[in-house]
Amino acid sequence: MAGSTRWCAPRLPTTEDSDVAVRRPRGDARRRSLTGRQMNELYGYLEALLKREGCDNTHRFTREFLESSGLAVEPELAWMRHMGGWCDCEVYVNVAWADWD
Ligand SMILES: [Zn+2]
Repeated sequence: MAGSTRWCAPRLPTTEDSDVAVRRPRGDARRRSLTGRQMNELYGYLEALLKREGCDNTHRFTREFLESSGLAVEPELAWMRHMGGWCDCEVYVNVAWADWD
């Protein structure tokens, strides 16, 4: 049920918003090593898990995704913090939720 999970970010975009509000990444987008495809996968991964379990104010799901994708976890997390993603739901809202192509 809505409200049963915890989110740190003030407002979450929904997939219904995506056609009216295309957001561009803030900060230096070139520092990432994820591809646009991987960012889209991360977005879907976080969406499913955050809706089910909420955010515990850590990068637990993002870390899992990076590890399972064979990416360097700490450099990517540092970059995501730089982009405003200080926990899983903020990565979802501020980082993965963006037009990455
Ligand atoms: Zn959060």
